[in-house]
Amino acid sequence: MEDLLKNLPKNAKDKHKQNKKFFAKLKKKPPKQLDVLMQDLHEEEFAKDYCLDCANCCKTTGPLFTDKDINRISKFLRMKPANFIATYLRIDEDQDYVLQQVPCAFLAEDNRCLIYEVRPKACAEFPHTDRKKFHQISNLTLKNVAICPAAYAIVEAMKEKIKV
Ligand code: SF4
Ligand code: SF4
Repeated sequence: MEDLLKNLPKNAKDKHKQNKKFFAKLKKKPPKQLDVLMQDLHEEEFAKDYCLDCANCCKTTGPLFTDKDINRISKFLRMKPANFIATYLRIDEDQDYVLQQVPCAFLAEDNRCLIYEVRPKACAEFPHTDRKKFHQISNLTLKNVAICPAAYAIVEAMKEKIKV
């Protein structure tokens, strides 16, 4: 896993042009079965169950925290939302609440999430590869393949399976 993560940014960079072209074509004519295919590819990749060896999303990037996330997590931690915000969050350039720092303060040493049951929606959905109309988030995916080895593998599998 260490080597995989070390090489991931370069591998993603090497594939960037090809991926960009692929998604541009996919957007023009998405296959009818795209949602079903993405669900299968996502399940197949995540069945390998390597997130606990990886945690690269929690270490290098962070989620957005919605108001609902903040209220739910504060309650779980028995903190007042304002106190939770002051302790862990900041507002970014898009006016969204994000982590003050990475790795995430809720990431344990064994890569478990200390607030897993109530984690932000964005964490639960990352890297969004089982999302419906996946071709609509291609810009985000082009970035995520450099962070997430599962997203990288899924995009590689997509290019094998979908002839655009
Ligand atoms: S809240 Fe949990 S899942 Fe989300 S970034 Fe932090 S440690 Fe990772
Ligand atoms: S979602 Fe991706 S980046 Fe995050 S832990 Fe799993 S494989 Fe790693």
